[in-house]
Amino acid sequence: MKAAVLEEYHNIVWKDVPVPQIARNEVLIRVKYACICGSDQHIFLGEFHPRTQLPLIPGHEFAGEIVETGPEVRNFRKGDRVAVDPILWCGRCPACERHHYPACTTLKLIGVDLDGGFAEYVRAPEHMLYAITPDISDEQAALVEVLSIGFHSCKRGGVKNNDTIAIWGAGKVGQCILQAARTKTANTLIMVDMLDARLERAKKAYPDVHIINVLKEDPVAKIKEITDGKGVDIAFEAVGHYREIPGKVNPVRGCIQSIRGAGKVCVLGLSDEVTPVLFKELIWREATIIASRVSHGEFAETIENLQKKTLKPDTLISDVLTADRAQEAFEMLEAEPEKHLKILLKLVIEEVTSKIKDQR
Ligand SMILES: [Zn+2]
Ligand SMILES: [Zn+2]
Repeated sequence: MKAAVLEEYHNIVWKDVPVPQIARNEVLIRVKYACICGSDQHIFLGEFHPRTQLPLIPGHEFAGEIVETGPEVRNFRKGDRVAVDPILWCGRCPACERHHYPACTTLKLIGVDLDGGFAEYVRAPEHMLYAITPDISDEQAALVEVLSIGFHSCKRGGVKNNDTIAIWGAGKVGQCILQAARTKTANTLIMVDMLDARLERAKKAYPDVHIINVLKEDPVAKIKEITDGKGVDIAFEAVGHYREIPGKVNPVRGCIQSIRGAGKVCVLGLSDEVTPVLFKELIWREATIIASRVSHGEFAETIENLQKKTLKPDTLISDVLTADRAQEAFEMLEAEPEKHLKILLKLVIEEVTSKIKDQR
């Protein structure tokens, strides 16, 4: 089979590799589309080293069709279309014992810690599969993972109807939080970013969303103005690595300053810097800070919303490239982050003529 293999950092090569061997409880999936995630960009640059071991086939956001099932697989069969929840938890650590899998101390991801979906075929255990119904396209199915991150953060933040929400960071994750949040509250939604193109993308998908460019306005003052001086019920931090802007607060502290008394801040952005916050600002509000990582079964909720057409998945896709152009896709994301959001890699480039077994 062919796969996009990260052979060395900054260098991903479309090449022949062996088809994965499935375990008894696993299926082999013919991948249709896979998405490039922000984490993949960090992996590409070598920023996940030494967690990532090269050569690696990245890709934890993907979907496709089952072509082979292990003897212990019960609920799925050949020909089923599936999305794959890529997290593999240990089941034994203190978090797992409490069924809090995203916090598993040895959490592994397909496509990060082991070979993933930027390949014609990928293996996955049955219990991480979610059936994709015919009314959901292959392209949309590949977005289930990243959209589920939005739903998980809304669950962590306890978003309910009539909540007002500010989302700091209008990148891939921020846009997914926006989409998930809109299915839960009809009230004010505000997006904060420093790139107009990203804010415009949100506004195009949801014309009633308020957008704030931190380079042009004071986001906290503007959020207060939009909410009649009250502040929002929940602020999400989906910026991660942030650039210092003179005279402006960092995103986490900005979130704290933009919530009402007894409001909540949900943090998702991964960065390696220490982020200064003034705890007095948190204590005065008797506020809550909550962290959110990956997802926890929100695939089902995401798929349900895709069926109900309550999401706008197509607005997340900026480009579709065949997977043999993976290197180019990563370079595009690095060079022009304002122009691209989710790049989909199409794995079905030409029909496979030989049987899988012949390729082994
Ligand atoms: Zn991801
Ligand atoms: Zn665990």
